[in-house]
Amino acid sequence: MIDFPIDDIKAVVSEKKYHTVICLLPAGVMPHAVDLREVIPNPIFVSNPCYGACDVPLELLKKYDAEAIFNFGHSEPIKFPKYGDGVHFFEIQVRGRNPKFIPSFSKVGLVYVIQFRETYMQYKEFLESNGKTVVLGGSPEFMATHQSQITGCDVEAAKSIVGDVDGFVVCSDGLFHANAVAALGKPAFNWNGDEAKAPKFPMAVLFTAKKVGVLIGAKPGQSYPKEAELVKKKLEKLGKTVITVVGDTITNEINNFQVDFWIIASCPRLAEDEYLSPSAPVKEVLKYI
Ligand code: SF4
Repeated sequence: MIDFPIDDIKAVVSEKKYHTVICLLPAGVMPHAVDLREVIPNPIFVSNPCYGACDVPLELLKKYDAEAIFNFGHSEPIKFPKYGDGVHFFEIQVRGRNPKFIPSFSKVGLVYVIQFRETYMQYKEFLESNGKTVVLGGSPEFMATHQSQITGCDVEAAKSIVGDVDGFVVCSDGLFHANAVAALGKPAFNWNGDEAKAPKFPMAVLFTAKKVGVLIGAKPGQSYPKEAELVKKKLEKLGKTVITVVGDTITNEINNFQVDFWIIASCPRLAEDEYLSPSAPVKEVLKYI
Protein backbone atom coordinates (compact mmCIF):
# COMPACT_ATOMS: atom_id res chain seq x y z
CA MET A 1 0.00 0.00 0.00
CA ILE A 2 1.44 3.42 -0.95
CA ASP A 3 0.29 6.63 0.70
CA PHE A 4 1.21 10.05 -0.64
CA PRO A 5 1.48 12.54 2.27
CA ILE A 6 -1.33 14.50 0.62
CA ASP A 7 -1.89 16.93 3.52
CA ASP A 8 1.82 17.86 3.64
CA ILE A 9 1.90 18.37 -0.12
CA LYS A 10 -1.23 20.53 0.00
CA ALA A 11 0.20 22.61 2.83
CA VAL A 12 3.47 23.32 0.97
CA VAL A 13 1.70 24.14 -2.31
CA SER A 14 -0.70 26.50 -0.61
CA GLU A 15 1.87 28.20 1.66
CA LYS A 16 4.34 28.79 -1.18
CA LYS A 17 1.61 29.43 -3.77
CA TYR A 18 3.20 26.98 -6.20
CA HIS A 19 1.62 26.46 -9.59
CA THR A 20 4.06 24.53 -11.78
CA VAL A 21 6.04 21.86 -9.99
CA ILE A 22 8.55 19.35 -11.42
CA CYS A 23 7.69 15.99 -9.84
CA LEU A 24 10.20 13.16 -9.48
CA LEU A 25 8.77 9.76 -8.67
CA PRO A 26 10.42 6.40 -8.00
CA ALA A 27 9.42 3.94 -10.75
CA GLY A 28 7.04 1.99 -8.50
CA VAL A 29 5.12 5.14 -7.61
CA MET A 30 4.66 6.40 -11.20
CA PRO A 31 1.26 4.66 -11.62
CA HIS A 32 -0.04 6.92 -8.83
CA ALA A 33 1.06 10.15 -10.56
CA VAL A 34 -2.52 11.14 -11.40
CA ASP A 35 -3.33 11.45 -7.67
CA LEU A 36 -1.00 14.45 -7.49
CA ARG A 37 -3.13 16.34 -10.05
CA GLU A 38 -5.59 16.95 -7.22
CA VAL A 39 -3.13 18.82 -5.01
CA ILE A 40 -0.64 20.43 -7.42
CA PRO A 41 -2.12 22.85 -10.00
CA ASN A 42 0.36 22.03 -12.78
CA PRO A 43 2.59 19.03 -12.02
CA ILE A 44 5.19 18.11 -14.64
CA PHE A 45 6.41 14.55 -14.24
CA VAL A 46 9.92 13.41 -15.15
CA SER A 47 10.16 10.21 -17.18
CA ASN A 48 13.47 9.01 -15.70
CA PRO A 49 13.01 6.89 -12.58
CA CYS A 50 14.31 8.64 -9.45
CA TYR A 51 16.46 6.44 -7.21
CA GLY A 52 17.38 8.82 -4.42
CA ALA A 53 17.67 12.22 -2.81
CA CYS A 54 20.75 12.62 -5.00
CA ASP A 55 18.47 13.15 -7.97
CA VAL A 56 17.11 16.69 -8.32
CA PRO A 57 17.36 18.07 -11.88
CA LEU A 58 17.60 21.75 -10.95
CA GLU A 59 18.05 22.72 -14.61
CA LEU A 60 14.39 21.81 -15.29
CA LEU A 61 13.14 24.65 -13.06
CA LYS A 62 14.19 27.32 -15.53
CA LYS A 63 13.49 25.28 -18.63
CA TYR A 64 9.84 24.69 -17.74
CA ASP A 65 9.28 27.90 -15.78
CA ALA A 66 8.50 25.91 -12.65
CA GLU A 67 8.62 27.29 -9.11
CA ALA A 68 9.60 24.08 -7.34
CA ILE A 69 10.83 20.51 -7.57
CA PHE A 70 9.20 17.81 -5.46
CA ASN A 71 11.21 14.62 -4.92
CA PHE A 72 8.91 11.84 -3.73
CA GLY A 73 9.93 8.73 -1.85
CA HIS A 74 13.18 10.07 -0.39
CA SER A 75 14.27 12.29 2.48
CA GLU A 76 16.28 15.48 2.52
CA PRO A 77 20.03 14.70 2.77
CA ILE A 78 21.50 15.56 6.17
CA LYS A 79 24.54 17.19 4.59
CA PHE A 80 25.17 16.66 0.88
CA PRO A 81 23.89 17.76 -1.55
CA LYS A 82 22.44 20.99 -0.14
CA TYR A 83 19.52 22.19 -2.20
CA GLY A 84 18.07 25.69 -2.13
CA ASP A 85 14.51 26.93 -1.66
CA GLY A 86 11.99 25.34 -3.95
CA VAL A 87 13.29 21.79 -3.51
CA HIS A 88 11.07 19.67 -1.27
CA PHE A 89 11.19 16.02 -0.25
CA PHE A 90 8.11 13.98 0.53
CA GLU A 91 8.74 10.58 2.07
CA ILE A 92 6.42 7.76 1.07
CA GLN A 93 5.93 5.04 3.65
CA VAL A 94 5.16 1.47 2.63
CA ARG A 95 2.86 -0.03 5.24
CA GLY A 96 1.30 -3.39 5.91
CA ARG A 97 4.58 -5.33 5.95
CA ASN A 98 5.15 -8.00 8.54
CA PRO A 99 8.53 -9.71 7.97
CA LYS A 100 9.27 -12.77 10.10
CA PHE A 101 12.97 -13.30 9.47
CA ILE A 102 14.99 -14.07 12.61
CA PRO A 103 18.78 -14.14 12.14
CA SER A 104 20.84 -16.78 13.95
CA PHE A 105 23.13 -14.26 15.68
CA SER A 106 22.22 -12.67 19.02
CA LYS A 107 23.15 -8.99 18.81
CA VAL A 108 21.40 -7.56 15.77
CA GLY A 109 22.31 -4.18 14.28
CA LEU A 110 19.15 -2.75 12.74
CA VAL A 111 19.03 -0.12 10.01
CA TYR A 112 16.38 0.73 7.44
CA VAL A 113 15.72 2.35 4.07
CA ILE A 114 13.43 5.35 3.98
CA GLN A 115 10.18 3.70 2.90
CA PHE A 116 10.20 1.58 6.07
CA ARG A 117 10.88 4.40 8.56
CA GLU A 118 7.47 3.90 10.16
CA THR A 119 7.58 0.10 10.28
CA TYR A 120 11.11 -0.81 11.34
CA MET A 121 10.34 -0.33 15.06
CA GLN A 122 7.62 -2.95 14.77
CA TYR A 123 10.21 -5.35 13.34
CA LYS A 124 12.60 -4.42 16.18
CA GLU A 125 9.94 -5.44 18.72
CA PHE A 126 9.40 -8.71 16.84
CA LEU A 127 13.13 -9.53 17.05
CA GLU A 128 13.23 -8.65 20.75
CA SER A 129 10.20 -10.81 21.46
CA ASN A 130 12.21 -13.64 19.89
CA GLY A 131 15.12 -13.18 22.28
CA LYS A 132 17.40 -10.93 20.19
CA THR A 133 19.25 -7.90 21.45
CA VAL A 134 18.68 -5.15 18.93
CA VAL A 135 21.09 -2.25 18.53
CA LEU A 136 19.66 0.57 16.44
CA GLY A 137 21.88 2.31 13.90
CA GLY A 138 23.52 5.67 14.55
CA SER A 139 23.46 8.93 12.60
CA PRO A 140 23.94 9.08 8.85
CA GLU A 141 26.96 10.77 7.28
CA PHE A 142 25.67 12.79 4.33
CA MET A 143 22.89 11.41 2.11
CA ALA A 144 20.43 9.84 4.58
CA THR A 145 18.45 11.93 7.07
CA HIS A 146 17.28 10.03 10.12
CA GLN A 147 18.86 7.99 12.89
CA SER A 148 19.33 4.35 11.70
CA GLN A 149 18.51 5.24 8.08
CA ILE A 150 20.89 4.21 5.29
CA THR A 151 21.13 4.75 1.55
CA GLY A 152 23.25 2.77 -0.90
CA CYS A 153 26.01 5.36 -0.66
CA ASP A 154 25.65 6.30 3.03
CA VAL A 155 25.84 3.36 5.45
CA GLU A 156 27.33 5.38 8.30
CA ALA A 157 24.33 4.51 10.53
CA ALA A 158 25.44 0.85 10.35
CA LYS A 159 29.18 1.59 10.44
CA SER A 160 28.83 3.50 13.71
CA ILE A 161 27.56 0.37 15.54
CA VAL A 162 29.60 -2.31 13.75
CA GLY A 163 31.70 -3.01 16.86
CA ASP A 164 28.59 -3.54 19.03
CA VAL A 165 26.78 -6.19 16.97
CA ASP A 166 27.22 -9.74 15.63
CA GLY A 167 25.54 -8.91 12.34
CA PHE A 168 22.97 -6.71 10.63
CA VAL A 169 19.44 -6.85 9.36
CA VAL A 170 18.55 -4.12 6.89
CA CYS A 171 14.84 -3.30 6.72
CA SER A 172 14.65 -3.35 2.92
CA ASP A 173 13.33 -5.70 0.27
CA GLY A 174 16.18 -5.91 -2.24
CA LEU A 175 19.85 -6.61 -1.60
CA PHE A 176 21.50 -3.42 -2.91
CA HIS A 177 21.47 -1.68 0.50
CA ALA A 178 22.21 -4.84 2.48
CA ASN A 179 25.20 -5.57 0.21
CA ALA A 180 26.62 -2.14 1.05
CA VAL A 181 26.24 -2.96 4.76
CA ALA A 182 27.86 -6.40 4.26
CA ALA A 183 30.98 -4.53 3.10
CA LEU A 184 31.45 -3.54 6.76
CA GLY A 185 32.63 -7.09 7.40
CA LYS A 186 29.78 -8.59 9.47
CA PRO A 187 26.99 -10.91 8.25
CA ALA A 188 24.12 -8.91 6.77
CA PHE A 189 20.62 -9.81 5.59
CA ASN A 190 17.61 -7.94 4.36
CA TRP A 191 14.48 -8.40 6.47
CA ASN A 192 13.18 -11.08 4.09
CA GLY A 193 16.16 -13.22 5.12
CA ASP A 194 18.16 -12.91 1.88
CA GLU A 195 21.85 -12.98 2.68
CA ALA A 196 23.87 -10.00 1.46
CA LYS A 197 27.32 -10.19 -0.07
CA ALA A 198 29.86 -7.38 -0.03
CA PRO A 199 30.34 -6.10 -3.58
CA LYS A 200 33.62 -7.29 -5.07
CA PHE A 201 35.49 -5.04 -7.49
CA PRO A 202 38.11 -6.31 -9.95
CA MET A 203 40.93 -4.11 -8.66
CA ALA A 204 43.59 -6.30 -10.28
CA VAL A 205 42.21 -5.23 -13.69
CA LEU A 206 42.71 -1.58 -12.75
CA PHE A 207 46.39 -2.15 -12.08
CA THR A 208 46.94 -3.70 -15.50
CA ALA A 209 44.70 -1.16 -17.33
CA LYS A 210 46.39 1.31 -19.69
CA LYS A 211 43.41 3.60 -20.40
CA VAL A 212 41.05 4.46 -17.53
CA GLY A 213 37.75 6.37 -17.66
CA VAL A 214 36.56 8.37 -14.65
CA LEU A 215 32.78 8.77 -14.81
CA ILE A 216 31.36 11.77 -12.91
CA GLY A 217 27.60 11.81 -12.35
CA ALA A 218 25.61 14.74 -13.73
CA LYS A 219 23.05 14.70 -10.89
CA PRO A 220 23.77 17.01 -7.93
CA GLY A 221 24.16 14.18 -5.39
CA GLN A 222 26.01 11.84 -7.71
CA SER A 223 28.87 14.13 -8.54
CA TYR A 224 32.24 13.64 -6.85
CA PRO A 225 34.55 15.94 -8.85
CA LYS A 226 37.20 16.32 -6.10
CA GLU A 227 37.59 12.58 -5.69
CA ALA A 228 37.61 12.24 -9.49
CA GLU A 229 40.45 14.75 -9.80
CA LEU A 230 42.42 13.09 -7.02
CA VAL A 231 42.10 9.62 -8.49
CA LYS A 232 43.03 10.96 -11.94
CA LYS A 233 46.24 12.55 -10.62
CA LYS A 234 47.21 9.40 -8.74
CA LEU A 235 46.60 7.15 -11.74
CA GLU A 236 48.52 9.45 -14.07
CA LYS A 237 51.47 9.22 -11.68
CA LEU A 238 51.20 5.45 -12.11
CA GLY A 239 51.59 5.99 -15.88
CA LYS A 240 47.97 5.48 -16.92
CA THR A 241 46.05 7.48 -19.50
CA VAL A 242 42.92 8.85 -17.81
CA ILE A 243 39.87 10.47 -19.39
CA THR A 244 37.01 12.15 -17.52
CA VAL A 245 33.45 11.55 -18.71
CA VAL A 246 30.33 13.27 -17.31
CA GLY A 247 26.88 11.73 -17.50
CA ASP A 248 24.33 9.46 -15.96
CA THR A 249 22.42 7.97 -18.87
CA ILE A 250 24.52 4.90 -19.46
CA THR A 251 24.02 2.92 -22.65
CA ASN A 252 26.23 0.72 -24.79
CA GLU A 253 27.47 3.93 -26.46
CA ILE A 254 29.80 4.50 -23.54
CA ASN A 255 31.94 1.62 -24.80
CA ASN A 256 33.00 3.88 -27.68
CA PHE A 257 35.41 5.51 -25.25
CA GLN A 258 37.28 2.18 -25.31
CA VAL A 259 38.70 2.33 -21.81
CA ASP A 260 40.05 -0.70 -19.96
CA PHE A 261 38.48 0.21 -16.61
CA TRP A 262 35.80 2.63 -15.33
CA ILE A 263 36.06 4.50 -12.05
CA ILE A 264 32.65 5.55 -10.85
CA ALA A 265 32.68 9.04 -9.27
CA SER A 266 28.89 8.85 -9.23
CA CYS A 267 26.23 6.60 -7.68
CA PRO A 268 27.97 3.41 -6.49
CA ARG A 269 25.08 1.46 -8.04
CA LEU A 270 26.62 2.19 -11.47
CA ALA A 271 29.55 -0.08 -10.66
CA GLU A 272 27.03 -2.92 -11.20
CA ASP A 273 26.02 -1.62 -14.64
CA GLU A 274 26.78 -4.11 -17.40
CA TYR A 275 28.03 -1.35 -19.73
CA LEU A 276 30.57 -0.14 -17.18
CA SER A 277 32.36 -3.40 -16.62
CA PRO A 278 35.04 -3.66 -15.28
CA SER A 279 34.62 -0.82 -12.82
CA ALA A 280 34.77 0.25 -9.18
CA PRO A 281 33.43 3.21 -7.15
CA VAL A 282 35.95 6.02 -6.69
CA LYS A 283 35.95 5.76 -2.87
CA GLU A 284 36.87 2.08 -3.16
CA VAL A 285 39.68 2.81 -5.62
CA LEU A 286 41.16 5.49 -3.36
CA LYS A 287 41.69 2.83 -0.68
CA TYR A 288 44.13 1.04 -3.00
CA ILE A 289 46.16 3.77 -4.71
S1 SF4 B 1 23.03 5.07 -3.65
FE1 SF4 B 1 22.95 6.15 -5.60
S2 SF4 B 1 20.75 6.44 -6.00
FE2 SF4 B 1 21.00 5.96 -3.81
S3 SF4 B 1 21.15 7.96 -2.81
FE3 SF4 B 1 23.24 7.25 -3.18
S4 SF4 B 1 23.81 8.18 -5.16
FE4 SF4 B 1 21.58 8.28 -4.97
